[in-house]
Amino acid sequence: MSLHDADAVARHADAHFDQTVDALRRYLEIPAVSCDPSHAADVVRLAERIRDDLAEVGLSDSRLLTLPDALPCVAAEWMGAGPDAPTVLIYGHLDLQPVERKNWHTDPHVPTQKGERLYARGAADDMGGWVSHIAALRSWMAISGAPPCNLRLLIEGEEEIGSPNLERFMDAYPEAFIADVMILTDCENPSTEIPGLTVSLRGLMELKVTAAALHADGHSGLWGNMVPDPCMALVKMLARLIDDDGRLNCGRMTIPEADAAAAYDVPLSNEVIASGAHLIDGVVPLPGRGRAPAEWMWRQPAMTIISTTMPTPAQKKNAIRTSAQATLSIRVAPNQDTDALHAEITHALTRDPVGGVKVTVEEVGTRGEGWLYTPKGPAFEAADRAYVKAWGRSMVRIGVGGTIPFVAIFGRRFGDLPLILNGVMDPQTTAHGPNESMHLGIFRKAIAANVYLLAELAALGRAGLQA
Ligand SMILES: [Zn+2]
Repeated sequence: MSLHDADAVARHADAHFDQTVDALRRYLEIPAVSCDPSHAADVVRLAERIRDDLAEVGLSDSRLLTLPDALPCVAAEWMGAGPDAPTVLIYGHLDLQPVERKNWHTDPHVPTQKGERLYARGAADDMGGWVSHIAALRSWMAISGAPPCNLRLLIEGEEEIGSPNLERFMDAYPEAFIADVMILTDCENPSTEIPGLTVSLRGLMELKVTAAALHADGHSGLWGNMVPDPCMALVKMLARLIDDDGRLNCGRMTIPEADAAAAYDVPLSNEVIASGAHLIDGVVPLPGRGRAPAEWMWRQPAMTIISTTMPTPAQKKNAIRTSAQATLSIRVAPNQDTDALHAEITHALTRDPVGGVKVTVEEVGTRGEGWLYTPKGPAFEAADRAYVKAWGRSMVRIGVGGTIPFVAIFGRRFGDLPLILNGVMDPQTTAHGPNESMHLGIFRKAIAANVYLLAELAALGRAGLQA
């Protein structure tokens, strides 16, 4: 194998791009929605199809990993590159988010190309991700007879429900996770021209805030002005948590100057944010106030009110309600002390209750872990070289404002290995929302990057990877 071969492999992959898109389309037609038990058979059917296809590509020991009460993972490997070659684990997930059909312009399970984008649930999250690796492997097999590295593929069936059994799979099948470097393909690119390397995630915490004052609803005409209104009190106390822009004002992080400056290199213009987040005409993104959008979105905590018990229009009546409740979703900054943030928010909500109402704050759900990673060493230099060849530029270090449980799990268990988090999503993808799509130009470049990445890692060798 030489880096020279990689050019021929990349040319082969490019020449077979249409076949790769066709293969992707066939996977996308299977509604493998993991949160819906009525689709469990579809998840298994898709897993079996992938298992068979990986065997056909030439990988060995292509199999389903199973556990009681869990949807399967697909695993396969190719260990023919010898003990001096690095072993690369490639992770993706085959399951899908559910769809609300009424908001889709096309059938979510019938892949439809419009312009440069392929629309279907899962097109970018995450079928395009792992199919881009299979396409690269196919071309390595066709041109060189073998990939240049040892490989393990692991395609999970429960990522979209939070990877509840991934650690059990790691414990039950440890041999399927032995590797020198891991490529976790389920992440985003800042634009169709700029590849992303994800290096941070925010964590998640949910708090239920209750303001209570009456045993029974009271007549607002009789008692208004002398009896506290829990709804009003709750609104006023929640307002303590936000600044004049509506951002959480607790737990602001001071991040390293270099990171704060690098955040300005991420092309998150007002136009990109407005279109990606579907802002209505006349509404613009929040002002920077001395911080880049990327810092606000990835490195600072944020709060959203995700439910309340405020009276709905159907419940309208002239009454002071007994109590009011709001559930707050708190995105915890990477490396932030979650307990300290919890205490700060609780203190702000419960000190001097408005109107003397009774305020309680209760944490609900399970916390999601954040993650902050420093990508350095030969594997990342190799990745940058591969991306320069495929995309014409190296990867931009980006964060994710959300919480991806599998990343936190890999980070905790394998954080001492190089973890390369890439993917085929971009700001227009609307993963999890209606009209999910993948940009085919990104898909093409992702396949080429995968081809070159294996060559670059192989050229380092196992020893060079550890240097
Ligand atoms: Zn995903």
